[in-house]
Amino acid sequence: MAKAMLIDVTKCTACRACQVACKQWNQLPAEKTTCQGTYENPPELSPKTWTKLKFKEISENGEVKWLFRKMQCMHCTDATCVKVCPTGAAHQTELGVVVIDEDKCTGCKYCVQNCPFEIPQYDTDTNTVKKCRMCYDRVSNGLTPACAKTCPPGAIQFGEREEMVSLGRERVSALKADGNLDAYLYGETELDGLGVMYVLAEKAKTYDLPEEPKVPLSAVLWQDILKPLGPILGGAAVAAFALSFLLNIGYKPEQETEGGEE
Ligand code: SF4
Ligand code: SF4
Repeated sequence: MAKAMLIDVTKCTACRACQVACKQWNQLPAEKTTCQGTYENPPELSPKTWTKLKFKEISENGEVKWLFRKMQCMHCTDATCVKVCPTGAAHQTELGVVVIDEDKCTGCKYCVQNCPFEIPQYDTDTNTVKKCRMCYDRVSNGLTPACAKTCPPGAIQFGEREEMVSLGRERVSALKADGNLDAYLYGETELDGLGVMYVLAEKAKTYDLPEEPKVPLSAVLWQDILKPLGPILGGAAVAAFALSFLLNIGYKPEQETEGGEE
């Protein structure tokens, strides 16, 4: 049965206990950072930081609103990283959690270049790619991920995906009934359903989330067309895939136009 995480951004207080819990459980070292003029720290995900709080200020009806969103791998059902990984290092477990087996990772960075959410992080020290594993070592033993276990206001919930979808829908209905018409359950349907869903209070793009995340065409061609034809096409398929990357047709979120995805 697929598991999922439900993050209710309206309950998050940005205490960052989840960031600390992730570091502790996964034994990830601290990073030296500098003040960026914001409480957001560190500024980006990295091989040593697999989850972090994103802070955003918006102006609404003449008032400043502070938005928080916990970022990490979205554990996509239709996971681009799994599609493009040539060695099988990026794979989906029986629980729907997407993990990268570092012993099999060759550091080609195809997953880094193609993830619709710009999540995987290349580690120059180990020549491997790193990202959130949704504490697979915990969840496969019946425990909740460290961040969900820690979150003081209960903004992070974890369980069977169906249950998380229904909790998310209920919360969105309650927010809408309260007058928040932009409330939305992000991840219920995107990319065939994400393993990390958000209860959002504003439109997805306000939280810097792509409104319609897509698997890049090069990944679809590779996984669904060229790979199955591999035994027939032999080296030609591999060459075509390599060429697609050389020609830079890998997905880049910032290349999308307005009205499409970010
Ligand atoms: S968010 Fe990116 S790294 Fe995570 S499962 Fe989806 S494609 Fe893979
Ligand atoms: S632990 Fe919970 S409340 Fe604290 S920052 Fe993380 S998601 Fe927000």
